[in-house]
Amino acid sequence: MLIAGMLFQPDANPRGLVPGWVHVEGGSILDVGFGSAPARADLGGDDSCIFPGFIDAHVHLPQFDSIGVAGLELLDWLNTVIFPAEMRWGDPGFAAAMAERATDELISFGTTGFAGYGTVHAESVREAMVQVASRHVRAVFGPSLMDRNAPPELCRVASEQIEALSGFSTIGRVEPAVTPRFAVACSPELMTQAAELARARGWAIQTHLAETRAEMALVASLFGGRPYAQVYDECGLLTPRTIVAHGVYLDDAQRDLLRRRGSVLAHCPTANRFLRAGAMDRDAAQVRGVRLALGSDVAGGPDRSMVRVARAMVETAWSVGHEAPSGVECFRAITRGNAEALGWNACGHIAPGFEADLVVTRPTLGLAEHPDPLGGLLHAWDDRWIEQTIVGGVVEYDVRWRV
Ligand SMILES: [Zn+2]
Repeated sequence: MLIAGMLFQPDANPRGLVPGWVHVEGGSILDVGFGSAPARADLGGDDSCIFPGFIDAHVHLPQFDSIGVAGLELLDWLNTVIFPAEMRWGDPGFAAAMAERATDELISFGTTGFAGYGTVHAESVREAMVQVASRHVRAVFGPSLMDRNAPPELCRVASEQIEALSGFSTIGRVEPAVTPRFAVACSPELMTQAAELARARGWAIQTHLAETRAEMALVASLFGGRPYAQVYDECGLLTPRTIVAHGVYLDDAQRDLLRRRGSVLAHCPTANRFLRAGAMDRDAAQVRGVRLALGSDVAGGPDRSMVRVARAMVETAWSVGHEAPSGVECFRAITRGNAEALGWNACGHIAPGFEADLVVTRPTLGLAEHPDPLGGLLHAWDDRWIEQTIVGGVVEYDVRWRV
């Protein structure tokens, strides 16, 4: 498959776009060239922009039908909106159908990889993994582990959850992830056993950290006032393959702990805004050397588009008076930046040998004379510009299918 257009090449050109072509063979990028394509292209054209597939470092598939329930604080929102929605995943058939629909939606927004949460239901999450894998999406994905402070229908004995998860294996491009939901809903025993399983298998770990003030107070009361990040560290959960979401209420000592462990902090600006959690200080994390990623946190965040999440990152930086990332930096963050954060080193970049995850767009914005084309695309972003999403070398979304 030959694809032509303006290729997103953040390191090659300060404007971020270089005319060229991509030759995809199987699941990989075989070759990339600059200038005119050597033959008539199968996809794209002179007025197309080609991006690596977008990657979402934090998303909850069981929450796709709960987007937009506004006005609640995190803990009330979990209890009244999210936990009832997650109970429906007790039915594996329902979970599979919803995972299939959510995956197709993500692909239609240009997302080709994610770090995702399921529910506590191991069998349902395994069915959901099969659906995600069937679309060739790259993911780490796992059941949300919980054994307290949640409805009894969503809690399981710690050892049973670990035993169920230990039976998981990689399906297609979907790798199991060890996913203790957050310290409020996980006993130290559950978190310790989860960390041991992740270490034994080399699997990714994902959890939430320091999202709201009420959650901070609850964690302090449950764990004798110990700093939140330290609670996870004492259970062995902070590793270079750990992604902790939010970190709105961290001090420098906890940021330093994340840096020493090499763990990734997933900034979720749309979710922080929607649940009115506060403004995460991305600069402070960056200054302390914390590895950063970006996540939609659907349904805490209402936006499925990673481009809109990146724009919210800029707006959050402005809201606290900080310098914001450029358009080029934003598109890099949701492609190669998130790929590197997840340890996917052959993902997120248009170069030979990289995995063939690509978004073919036809922006209606005049880019040739634009002083900052990627800034223009970021702030005027319109999902109708997406014509095809190629996932693992396969066209999984084509705008022409919609007519
Ligand atoms: Zn979340």
